[in-house]
Amino acid sequence: QLGLEPTKEFYELLNRKHTVTIKKKEIVEIEPVETIPLYYEPVFEFEAKVSRVKDDYIILDRTYFFPRQGGQECDKGFINDCEVEEVIKIGKTILHKARNCNLKEGDTVKCRIDRERKIILSRHHVATHIINYAARKVIGNWVWQAGSNVDVDKARLDITHFENLSEEEIEKIEKVANEIVDRDLPIEIYVMNRIDAEKKYGFRIYQGGAIPEKTVRIVKIGEEVEACSGTHNLLKSTKELGNILILGTKRIQDGIIRIEFCSGETALSYLREKERILNEVAKKLGVKEEEVVDACIKLFEAWKKERKRLKDVRGI
Ligand SMILES: [Zn+2]
Repeated sequence: QLGLEPTKEFYELLNRKHTVTIKKKEIVEIEPVETIPLYYEPVFEFEAKVSRVKDDYIILDRTYFFPRQGGQECDKGFINDCEVEEVIKIGKTILHKARNCNLKEGDTVKCRIDRERKIILSRHHVATHIINYAARKVIGNWVWQAGSNVDVDKARLDITHFENLSEEEIEKIEKVANEIVDRDLPIEIYVMNRIDAEKKYGFRIYQGGAIPEKTVRIVKIGEEVEACSGTHNLLKSTKELGNILILGTKRIQDGIIRIEFCSGETALSYLREKERILNEVAKKLGVKEEEVVDACIKLFEAWKKERKRLKDVRGI
């Protein structure tokens, strides 16, 4: 819009904070070889050929395992009977970490991906896009994604904002996010020429930390458009998320607020666990659930009174 061409440094800066730190020492010995990435496909069992093996690291000719990238945790599962603990991507090479596999180059292996994990990660990933949109709608247009992490128990989104969010703002963000879920919007994914995408959507598309190459993978959910390398393909529309629950927010550094949330079955489990705890406390106090707060205040006041009485008696 200003007629300026973005420099290489601009893109590097965009990506720096999203880059995964890996223990380079562990893998430096492996000669890199290209892996065909198939991890956007909803395939959970496949055969592949071993291209390279070094210690606990295995490179396959092709893989459906999603490597940890763009703030999203990796897929897990098995290569033959060996548990895949970690999957990372360096350049065009994808490395699977699995102990005691006893494999050699050229072996054909049977791979199995943890289906449930992959689906939950996809849901939480899509929820990140939606929370980002909702935060911007509720707080203001200056909100920019500063980082994210997508795991199975919860996801988090760090946004640029000068103060922690109020209860009212959190409620509003959750409401807007769940409205997007209820509207059952399609999750559209398409590859675009980088220049065209920047012209059409602006540089906001890079806030998720996608690495701009000649083409960019655009993910569009309603009005929210981002260049993104995460997994969304397992979901066709927002309704499949079930719901989105904000677990909490906190200020993690000057100008950065962290929002933690989960969705679907994970959100339901979280609420059930809260309900169980509340139920147990109510039982212990011998009151109804809705009377727990009053009962706690009364108990605390009684305890304070008793402590004071004891102090007076003992003359401490
Ligand atoms: Zn994404």
